[in-house]
Amino acid sequence: MGEPIHVPLLDLNQQNQPLAAELKDTFARVLDSSQFILGPEVTEFERQVAAGVGATHAIGVSSGTDALLLSLMALGIGPGDEVLCPSFTFFATAGSVSRTGAIPVFIDSLDDDFNLDLENAARRVTDKTKAIIPVHLFGQAADMDAVQRLASAHDLMVLEDAAQSMGTQFGEKKAGTMGDLCAFSFFPSKNLGGFGDGGMITTNDDALAERVRILRVHGGAPKYYHKAIGGNFRLDPLQAALLRAKLGHLPVYIAKRRANAATYLERLSESTPVREGRLLLPSEMSGRTHTWNQFTIRVTNGKRDALMEHLAANQIGSAIYYPVPLHRQECFSNLAGVEARLPICEKMADEVLSIPIYPELSTEQIDHVINTIANAPI
Ligand SMILES: *Cc1c(COP(=O)(O)O)cnc(C)c1O
Repeated sequence: MGEPIHVPLLDLNQQNQPLAAELKDTFARVLDSSQFILGPEVTEFERQVAAGVGATHAIGVSSGTDALLLSLMALGIGPGDEVLCPSFTFFATAGSVSRTGAIPVFIDSLDDDFNLDLENAARRVTDKTKAIIPVHLFGQAADMDAVQRLASAHDLMVLEDAAQSMGTQFGEKKAGTMGDLCAFSFFPSKNLGGFGDGGMITTNDDALAERVRILRVHGGAPKYYHKAIGGNFRLDPLQAALLRAKLGHLPVYIAKRRANAATYLERLSESTPVREGRLLLPSEMSGRTHTWNQFTIRVTNGKRDALMEHLAANQIGSAIYYPVPLHRQECFSNLAGVEARLPICEKMADEVLSIPIYPELSTEQIDHVINTIANAPI
C-alpha cells in the first residue's frame, strides 16, 4: 500500500513552482525598474491579452470585481437603471450593479449550462432596463445569440462577466469579444491565475475603451482635470509582469482542464450514481468551448453534503459554488421585485458540488476522485 492519495480542490504550487525561476527574475526586473504604477509592463500585458482574446482593446484593472464596476460606470449605469443578471453567480456580478446605484434584476438559470435563462430575462425587461450581464459560469459561455437578440430588441448594453472564462468560446467567438465590454479576473483560482488580485476589461469599442482608461485613473483627463468621477482601478505592473510569464501557458492549462473533464465525463457516466440519476454531470453545450474553470456535479437526492463529507474523508477537496443564490441574500432582501422565486437557481444551490479539475491533476488523482464518487453513499 502506498501513501493515501490526496487531491486538494486546487494546488497552485503545481502550476507556479515550475515557473519559479522566471517569476523571481520577473520580480527582480520590476524591482529594478522602479516603475510601480502602470507603464510598459502593464501596456505590454494588455497588448498580449487583447491579441489572445481577439479584442481591439484590453485595459488592466485591479480585480475582476473592479472590472465589472468600472465597466458599468463607463456604460453610464446608475440610479434609476435596472440591470439584468443571473442570481446563480458569484456575488460581484450583482454587487457591482448595486454599487453604481442601479438595481440588479435577478434572472433564473438554465438547468443544462448553469447560465442565464433568456426567456426569463425577456419577461423581466422594463423601460428602466439598460444592460444585461451574461456570466460565463464555470468556464462555459452563456447563450450569446439569445443575449444579443434580447439586447437588440430592447436596446440593452451587454457586459460579459468572463471572470471564470478566459479562453472560452461561443461558436467561433471568444469570451471578451461579444459584449460592449467584458470583465476578466486573475484571482488565483481563475483560468489565468495571478499572485494576488487583478483583472482586465476588453472591448472592440474605441470610445468605451478611452472612457474606461480615464475612469481607471479617477476620471482625470488630462491628469488633475476631471470631467468625470472615476477611481483608482489600476493593475499593478508587478502583477502584470508576473501574469505575462503565465499567459503563454494558458492554452496548455485549458487543454489539460478539458482533458481532465473529458476523463471525468466518460468514466463517471458509467458509475452507478450517475446511471441511476442521483448524480448529474455537467455538460459541454454543442458549439461552445468549455474551459472548465470548475467541474460542478449535482446530487439530486438531497445527499450533497454526505458526498462532500465522503470526499473529505478520502482526502478529496470540494466546494459549493454557490450555496445561496443572490436573490436570497440578506443584503438584497429589500430590493423591489426581488421576491420572485427562481426555482432552478434555488435547486442548483442545494445540489451543486465542485470537484478538483485543475490542470496539474495526475492520472492517479483523477482515478481516486472517480472511484471515490462511484462508491459514494448517496
Ligand atoms: C471571480 C469572479 C468575479 C470577481 O473577480 P475578483 O477578481 O475576485 O474580484 C466576478 N464574477 C465572477 C463570475 C467571478 O467568478
